[in-house]
Amino acid sequence: MDTTAYQRALLREHTELEKQLASLGALDHTVVGDWVSAAETPLVAEADENLVADQTEELITRTGELDVLETRFRDVARALDKITTGTFGTCELCQAAIEADRLAVNPAARTCKLHLNDEVDLAL
Ligand SMILES: [Zn+2]
Repeated sequence: MDTTAYQRALLREHTELEKQLASLGALDHTVVGDWVSAAETPLVAEADENLVADQTEELITRTGELDVLETRFRDVARALDKITTGTFGTCELCQAAIEADRLAVNPAARTCKLHLNDEVDLAL
């Protein structure tokens, strides 16, 4: 399988996700690929309840965004690893080749179309 185009798309997305993650939070260097929201350590000097409420709301929003980005970042990184190890384009559940049109839409896909709905249950 020629993975050149997929690799290019994945690398572009990897760079883009890194930028987005960096703007939302800080990279936790102790765990590779695990990002911690900058809002998780709010610097509230005074006990201003409205401010705390605002920050909590912001934290929830940020954490949600981070989760989505983190998952995507891991999937993209995993797909790039698979290109290196030669397992790219193989369904993680049935080992069948993932359909080309599925990979075209999502080169980080981990499953074939048959197992599309099982992808969310896969371990990180
Ligand atoms: Zn499958």
